[in-house]
Amino acid sequence: MTIGNYGSAPAQDTASALFGMDGVEVTEAEREADGRLTVWGRITVPARCPGCGTVSEKVHQYVTTRPRDVRACGQDANFCLVKRRMECARESCPRKTFTQWAPQVPPRCTITRRLLDHAGAEVADRGVTPAEAARDAGISWPSAHEAFREKAAGILGEDPAPVAHLGIDEHRRGRPRWRKDTGTGETVQLADRWHVCFYDLDGNQGLLGQVEGRTSDDAAYWLAGATPAWRDAVQVVAIDMCTIFASAVRRMLPDARIAVDLFHVVQLAVKTAADVRRRAIRELYGRRGKAGDPEYGIKVLLNRNLESLSAEQFEKVIETLDATGPGQQIAIAWIAKEKLRSALNLRARVTGSTPCERQVRGRLFAFYDWCAQNEDTPELQSLAGTIARWENEIVTAVTTGVTNATAESLNRLAKLEARRAYGFRNPTNQRRRVRIACTRSTRRP
Ligand SMILES: [Zn+2]
Repeated sequence: MTIGNYGSAPAQDTASALFGMDGVEVTEAEREADGRLTVWGRITVPARCPGCGTVSEKVHQYVTTRPRDVRACGQDANFCLVKRRMECARESCPRKTFTQWAPQVPPRCTITRRLLDHAGAEVADRGVTPAEAARDAGISWPSAHEAFREKAAGILGEDPAPVAHLGIDEHRRGRPRWRKDTGTGETVQLADRWHVCFYDLDGNQGLLGQVEGRTSDDAAYWLAGATPAWRDAVQVVAIDMCTIFASAVRRMLPDARIAVDLFHVVQLAVKTAADVRRRAIRELYGRRGKAGDPEYGIKVLLNRNLESLSAEQFEKVIETLDATGPGQQIAIAWIAKEKLRSALNLRARVTGSTPCERQVRGRLFAFYDWCAQNEDTPELQSLAGTIARWENEIVTAVTTGVTNATAESLNRLAKLEARRAYGFRNPTNQRRRVRIACTRSTRRP
């Protein structure tokens, strides 16, 4: 094997242009017996002493290195880089010798910069795991992960920009951990692993941050870390019907209004109607419902929105529920659900115009009134109680139209990321991966 013919190659020949590495020139390329391509290169960047900055031309020795590089034209390639070890031209310089380098092949590198960048981009932009990116690049997991960490720092580095609509949601970070108490023999919980996530609901920042745990203090801790100007900019915070986050928001963002996610309000009403149906069927038949019961046959129709039912379906529901006393109880719960929904349906997304607060409260009053008229249905009393406790937050959600839907969809991404990784051991790595995953779609050109 030859060590390239120093001095005779043109400044930028065809092979070097194909190879495409700044400051490196291809001196020779050949195919080995096993079919692999071997590319020989040398550095063309002037050798500048890192000690004193003098450019030196005096060669001390030649060194051949084999840094791992990207595939060349789709084929696996061995890259042999001949570096020169130079003697410093300055007599007084404490650094006697040094090795020349180029941006892609810094001193002591065993992997070229572009291969590391490729592995980092695979994880950050394509959602490949660091383990898979490392396997593909033929490098170690720590190298691939470090490349991803550097790339992620460039994307997530700066503090989040101000957001007007903030979403807060929790998701399970991993399975709870248990341990057997040696003294009593009982199983005790070591850790219940949750993350509280903060989302930008109307911008493209995706996930703003995460904090370990799921208590009010955990959520408040993250909000306390933000700048006062950032906190002042938040106008509406969307949460699930969860007192933990509400108290954290009231404590840390006293000027922001809270909006509960309306999906969860409707879900609660649907569940209440189903509870009444189950109880009524048990009263009627003395057993749980089964296929063939008329009430069981309309189960799915009762869960549907009233406006989605056809005239025949509506007729079927009314006929079935009118037939028996317990059936009428189901009808009462069903009407309560629809009365609550009529208040929520005032939102601009449904009607096309922003409702006023008085209208929403008026329809909610009609719902309370219906529940009060049917005080012998305990499930409705409990539903009305919950809605009354969250009335201000529901009214804010209807009048502002802010929902936590973005947060729920990004939450799905967070769970998907954990599955791809087969779970995470390191919470910091998990947060970084999830944050990058949540910005991926908005970073695509
Ligand atoms: Zn020097």
